[in-house]
Amino acid sequence: MNPIGVEVYPIDHGFTNSYIIHSEGTIMVDVPFKARDFNKAMERIPFEPAEIELIIITHGHFDHIASLKELKEFTGAKVAVHRDDMRGLKGSSIPVPTGVTLWGSVSRVLLNVFLTPFLSASPVDADIILEEEGFSLSDYGVSGSVFHTPGHTEGSSSVLLDSGEAFVGDLAMNGFPLCFSPRLSIYSHDFEKLVDSWRFLLSNGAEMIYPGHGEPFSADIIRESIHKLDIT
Ligand SMILES: [Zn+2]
Ligand SMILES: [Zn+2]
Repeated sequence: MNPIGVEVYPIDHGFTNSYIIHSEGTIMVDVPFKARDFNKAMERIPFEPAEIELIIITHGHFDHIASLKELKEFTGAKVAVHRDDMRGLKGSSIPVPTGVTLWGSVSRVLLNVFLTPFLSASPVDADIILEEEGFSLSDYGVSGSVFHTPGHTEGSSSVLLDSGEAFVGDLAMNGFPLCFSPRLSIYSHDFEKLVDSWRFLLSNGAEMIYPGHGEPFSADIIRESIHKLDIT
């Protein structure tokens, strides 16, 4: 545990990350492709699934919500999602947004033609609809908040802990086949908003970034990217 008592358990299932955050209470950020990935992860985590009281969805893309229906039933947790991405939970697939890099532009077309139209998660009712203002996690025993951080999708949200860990979904990426090193998302529905969301997270204490794809990395990498954008 770090000094203010937060443990982070990544659930690694190949491509997309989800995370369990354990402090005085236990919450989860996004869910794995398959419920069995969750069950496997729980074998090495020292508490019960029913202790997870809240599942926060960073955004409504299929790879972040695929097993949500099963996990909601299995854990009994409440589900929180931003209003603008709620349609992803209602059974409609949200297309991959505009490419920021050349590979982003190419892969986006491939994904939106060959994959996204055929993927939709089983519909789930959200219990908490996130709006523009921050949502405190104190009722769930975690020191931190969920913030609306649009830019990847309209309704993208990030969990920012008071201890500096930021769970940002696809606002950043760090791994093959999306990219080779930590960086801003390669897909963005509104790049200006994406940069503004990052400015917000950085100025509010984000130090360690836990992306939706790839390993965690220092927020300094994003800080430098944004600085470069400012001077060009
Ligand atoms: Zn996404
Ligand atoms: Zn993703």
